[in-house]
Formats: sequence, C-alpha cells, structure tokens
Amino acid sequence: MNPPEENDINWDETVPMLPLRDIVVFPGMTAPLFVGRKKSIAALDHAFTTPSRHIMLASQKDAALDDPSQKDINKVGCVAEVSQILRLPDGAIKALIIGKKRGRILEFVKGENHLLVKCEPLAETSAGPEQASAALSLAKTLFDKYSKLNQNVPREAVDALKGMDDAGQFADAVAANVIPRIEDRQKALEALDVKSRLELLISSLQEEIEILQLERKVRNQVKKQMEKSQRDYYLTEQMKAIQKELGKGDGERGEFAELKDKILKAKMPKEVEKKALKELSKLEQMPPMSAEGTVSRNYIDWLVDVPWSATTQDKLDIAEAAKILDEDHYGLDKVKERILEYLSVRKLVEKMKGPILCFAGPPGVGKTSLGKSIARAMGRKFVRFSLGGVRDEAEIRGHRRTYIGSLPGRIIQSMKKAGTKNPVLMLDEIDKVASDYRGDPAAALLEALDPEQNVAFNDHYLEVDYDLSEVMFITTANALHTIPRPLMDRMEVISIPGYTDGEKENIATKYLIPKQVAEHGLAKDSLAISPEALRKIIRNHTRESGVRNLERELAAVCRKAARKTAEKAGGGKSGTKARKIEVTAQNLVDYLGEIKFRDELKEAKSGTGVATGLAWTELGGAMLKIETTIMDGKGKFILTGKLGDVMKESAHAALSYIRSRGKEFGLKKGFQEKIDIHIHIPEGATPKEGPSAGVTLAVSMVSALLNIPVSNEVAMTGEITLRGQVLAIGGLREKLLAANRAGVKTVLIPEENEKDLKDVPANVKQGLSIAVVKNMDEVIKLALTSSPWKKKVKKAEPLKHPRVKHRPTPGSAGVALN
Ligand code: ADP
Repeated sequence: MNPPEENDINWDETVPMLPLRDIVVFPGMTAPLFVGRKKSIAALDHAFTTPSRHIMLASQKDAALDDPSQKDINKVGCVAEVSQILRLPDGAIKALIIGKKRGRILEFVKGENHLLVKCEPLAETSAGPEQASAALSLAKTLFDKYSKLNQNVPREAVDALKGMDDAGQFADAVAANVIPRIEDRQKALEALDVKSRLELLISSLQEEIEILQLERKVRNQVKKQMEKSQRDYYLTEQMKAIQKELGKGDGERGEFAELKDKILKAKMPKEVEKKALKELSKLEQMPPMSAEGTVSRNYIDWLVDVPWSATTQDKLDIAEAAKILDEDHYGLDKVKERILEYLSVRKLVEKMKGPILCFAGPPGVGKTSLGKSIARAMGRKFVRFSLGGVRDEAEIRGHRRTYIGSLPGRIIQSMKKAGTKNPVLMLDEIDKVASDYRGDPAAALLEALDPEQNVAFNDHYLEVDYDLSEVMFITTANALHTIPRPLMDRMEVISIPGYTDGEKENIATKYLIPKQVAEHGLAKDSLAISPEALRKIIRNHTRESGVRNLERELAAVCRKAARKTAEKAGGGKSGTKARKIEVTAQNLVDYLGEIKFRDELKEAKSGTGVATGLAWTELGGAMLKIETTIMDGKGKFILTGKLGDVMKESAHAALSYIRSRGKEFGLKKGFQEKIDIHIHIPEGATPKEGPSAGVTLAVSMVSALLNIPVSNEVAMTGEITLRGQVLAIGGLREKLLAANRAGVKTVLIPEENEKDLKDVPANVKQGLSIAVVKNMDEVIKLALTSSPWKKKVKKAEPLKHPRVKHRPTPGSAGVALN
C-alpha cells in the first residue's frame, strides 16, 4: 500500500463517477475492480482517456440496485487513479485502481453515457498525538492477535502494516481488509477524525477476534470427538486382536453367535426375528460395555425371552376340573359351577371371545386360589400381578427403549415369567387402577383384554406386536363401582361375598390346618385343634369376611407347635415319638395371646340410644354401631365419628321424620330446641358413608329421645325418606353375612330388597330371623324393646306386625358343624 499522492488532483474539474456495489475504496488502497454495467464501463473508459485518469469511486447505499440514481449513492467516496484496464471476453472490464484521496461529491453532472461529479477534498482531523498513539497501539495489538487467529492474512502484509506510523493510514489500510460489513467500512471512510476511525476499527477487530476464537473452539471440540471415536475404534479392534491371540477367542464373537442362535431358536414371527437380527448386527458394531450396547443387549434378551411359540396343551376334562376345584376349595358351589360352564364352552369353541371372568369380593375369600385351581385344572401356567395403585400407562405398556433400565410393561413381564403363550393371567385389584397425567392405564388394559385387539398388543418397549389372544385373563376386585365402565363391559362378575363362621370352620379343618401343618413340617396327626378352640380363633382372634387372617392365626399356632415339638425332640429320649399337641379353648391363650375381638353383641345389654346397623365395605359386610345422646341445650345437632355427607343428610332426614311424628311419640312441640342431639359412630378412624344407615340413625335417635332401649339382638339396614319410608339398599348378601357372623338374631331389611333374598345362600340365612319392613313405624316396633305408642296407639291405625320372611331353623342358632 503506497502513501496516496494527492497533489495532482484538480478539484475544480469534473471527474467521471463509478458507483461501487460491494466494496469501499480507501486512499492508498490498490484493488482490482470487475465492472460489467454499461454506465460504469463508460465512466472507466472516460477516466482512462483523461491525462490524470482520475475517477470518483463512491459506494451504493443498496448493493442490489442496478441503476442507482444520485440519491442512492453515498456522498463521501474516494478519488482514485485508474492504472490499468483489461477487457474481458464477455465484454466486462477488469480495472486496477489506486485510491488517492477522500472526497465529497458536491454536484452530479450528467455526461453522455455516465455520471460526472464535482468534488471537494476532505481533510483528516487528527486528535492529540498522545490519544492517537494510544489508540494506534491498541489497534496494532488487536490486529496482531487477529492476524494470528486468521490464517488468511499474509505474513508480509502484517509486517508492513505493523511498521506503519501514520494512524490514519494504518486505520484505512486495516479497515479495508478487516471490517466485514460494507456499511461499517463506509462509516470508517466517512470518519475524518482519525481517533474515531481507530475506535471503529478497534471494535470491529474485537468482534472479529471473538468470532475467530469461537470458531477455533468449536473446531477443536469436533476434532477431539473425532479423535476419541477413532481411538475407541482402534482400541476395540486391538482388543479383539489380542483376545484372538490369547485364544479366548472369539469371546465376543462367540457370544454374538450364541445370541444369534437363541434368536433363531425362539421361533419368533418373521418380522420380529428380522428386527432382532438387525438389532444384533447393530450391537456387534457398538463398543462393548458402552451404554447403548447395554440397552441394545437387554432388548435382544427380552425379545428372546418372551414366549413366542411355547404353549401348554389344554386339559379340558370337565370332571377332572370339578375334582380339582373341590380339592382346593370348600363350598363356593355356585362359583365352581360357573367356572365349569366356562371351561365347557371353552372346550367346544376353539378360540373363545367370551367375557373375562372377574372374581369380586373381600380379601381372603379365595379369588386368587380359584385362579390357581383353574390353571391347574387346565394344565396351564399361572401368573398374576396387581393393578393396585397403577397410575402410569407405561406400567402396563412399558417404557420406550431410550434409557438404561427401561422395561416392558407388566403384561409382557408376566408373559416372560409364564414362559408360555397361553397362561392363566390374573389381574388383581382391577378396581384400584387409577389414571392421571401419565396416561390412562385402563385404556392399555382394555387393549390387552379385548379379543378383537389383543392379537397385536403393542408394548412400547418391545416395539413389535405381541399376540395375547391365547392368554386366559381373569381379574379380581374388591368393589365393582370403581372399575372403569369400558373394562366392566368386558367382564363377567362372579361375586364371592365371604364366609359364615360355620363355613370358616370347615375351610379351616379341611384345608387350612392340614396345609399349615404340612408347611410347618409337623407330622399329620401331631396337632389337634379342638372345635371350641377353632371357633374361638374365628370369632375372637379374627374379624373378616375371608379367611386370610384365620390362615395367619393358624400358621401362628403351627409355629408355636413346631417349636414345642422341636424342643421336646431335642431334650427328650431319642426314639420316643413326640406327643400329640392339643390346642383347646383353655390353652389357646398360650398360642395366640389374649383375644383381639370380643363378642360385643352378646356382651352388650340392650341400651338406650344405641342401634346396630349393617354396612357394606370393600372388606365385606360389617356391623355399624350408632350412638345418640340427648343433653339439655339449644337445638344443636352434633355429628361425630368421620361421617360422610350422605350420612349427615340421613341423620337430618331421620330428625325430620321424628319431628313429624313428635305428637304420636309424646314429644312436646319444639322439643328439639331445648336439647342438643349428639350422634356418634365409634371406630372413628374409618370413614363411613352411604345412605343405608338411615333407619339405624333414626332408631338410635328415637330410642334416646323416648328413653326406650333398643334390642341388642336386632340389626338393621335401609335408607329413610322424610316421611319415614324405608328404601332399598345394596350388598344384602354381605350384610346378612356380617349379621350372621356377629350372632345377630333379627335383621330388618327394606321390603324392596325382599326379591334379593333368594340369591342369599341358605347357610347365610340360617340362624337369622329376617323381617322385611316398609316404613319406620315397622322398624321402631321391631327394634325397640317396648312400643313408643303405648298411650296413643289406640287412636292411631293399628300396626300390622311386619312380615318375617325367614325364621331361624330350630336348633340352628350358632354355627353348624358338619
Ligand atoms: P383373595 O385372593 O380372595 O384375597 P386368597 O385366594 O389369597 O384370597 O385366599 C386366602 C387363603 O384362603 C388361601 O390360602 C386360600 O387357599 C384360602 N381359601 C379361601 N377360600 C377358600 C375355600 N373356599 N376353601 C379352601 N381354602 C380357601
């Protein structure tokens, strides 16, 4: 770059003007220009023919314009000399120009083919020498840094520039090369103050340096990564070679071959096999022990382990099945009958699309063990999993295979456990499936259970369709109302309400005791539990509808017995046979400790304000004691014991009924305003809800208000209306069972439920006197120990005695043993 010579410029003359598109020419700069536009070629030709060869070079404001007008051209430009012109074959011109001096266009003059301009020179204003030299040295340092980062700047140019002392010239020379944007270069050209031109340059240099540094960093990272994977590849290959040399050989190869073998032997459907083999070839490419290798390996293992073709041969011998069901379970005749019907249909129809069995009932009534028996009878494998608390669809359908530790859903897991394509798969607690933002597990279940869809069940982990159509699904539930409707529609419900004490004794003697005795390693006849002791265990150590706790208590007895036997055998003379252990009602306390439940009903005296209701819970039927106390007060109505809203409404309905009958009961008008009524339901930890406690609430209140005791042998259930009508209730079987267990003598049930009595097994009704009632008057008459109408009954319509639908069979009070 030469110092510009400006002496020979004649500023009075007009000079041709060339608009520049994408370049800004600075004084002192030599640059080639490629020119194609006609006007521009004319301007260059003109300049080249003048003695001075001067031309004004000014940049366009918008590079895209082909024919810029005066206003589109920056006024500040550079007067330059055209030193060479070369005509190119396509008519364009390459011209070499040398920048001379900054100039401002004062006036445009229209020439023949191009523009001419009249200009004035622009002189640099220079700051104080100190400021300028400080800015200059900073700019030089930055330029040095820049040139080191940018390999494109030639070394000689750098040296030449560094040696420059004139700040203005240095700024021009560097700006022409370093500043990236045309507008910024134009600003540098227009900056007549050297210091501000240097500042522009400094900020541009800083920006450029930053960009270059960033680029370098990214380049380095990419390079490092590439080096690492090359290194890994190289090392893996080396390791393989070393292993081969050591003769361990084809360690990995062998493993892959083994895996391939397994895939081929698994008898997968063709497309699954294809997928597995593809995954295997991917695995072979992966570095061993890498994360993706593990994920891929696990996936192949799952594909291999899930049963694709293994099945068990169905045994469909109905007589044999009946034998097995009887062998495993006492009673349950209706349930067994229904199961046998189901199996018969299955025998006749090749692929059954019928409903899925759902065993519904409280815990411990044998739902699971029935499922096991069915599997045993059919010669199928049995697997189960619980849906209790499952909220995430992925638990049913699996997690996508994106991270280490993802697994197929529970259904596919169970299939692997079963090892055959046609197991009996029991889905426990289907009434406890919940759904939330993690998807709807019920929808996934529906797909699995629906015979139309389950031929191609889709598990997210497995990714390939799995055929569930040969699986026999059985579900279990405690309550039916929480089962999602669409699922409910697919199922046939078989209810198992629970056992009476008599049935429990039979189950214990015939099934549970022999089972526990064997499990505890005791000899067959070494333990005798007397009938009284057994009855005591059932009544006073457990309170349940099923026999789960009973089995647990019997196991406890067996444990103690086993210890006694072992101690005796250890200390005794060898050869003597261990003495038989006898458990009686008297020594039971040594085995099970103090009793846990008292026979409340038997012990309770008839009391005022205390009535016994019957309730339905998920654990089966239950007794519900309701207490009412009357105190002097101001008409407050207090309800305690965790009552639900429906219970509270029932209590208010009961009070309204009593008030409407106040006169007949001999209660003074407005009696309720001078007293507080407190109703409490003990065992407050359990929430109580449901309308069927209405009659019990009313009886308890009437008894307390009139001070007439309620008979302790009566239990009742029924919804109540404001006019004292008694409405139907649900769960009659379970409630009667609870009454039976508790030793209640008389049960009052709504007349509307009379039709349901035929579905209640005879042994449940045994020992109970069941009366159907239409209204509260009938209830009160039966429940209270004396009539509240004593004085006024003459005037009132004589009450018919409520009909007793069922009377206890003579001598059958208590439990029947057979
Ligand atoms: P659930 O699945 O209904 O909660 P289980 O099937 O686990 O109940 O039963 C608990 C225990 O009681 C099991 O050992 C089962 O064999 C036994 N059991 C239940 N009902 C009967 C019955 N009717 N006869 C014989 N054993 C029974």
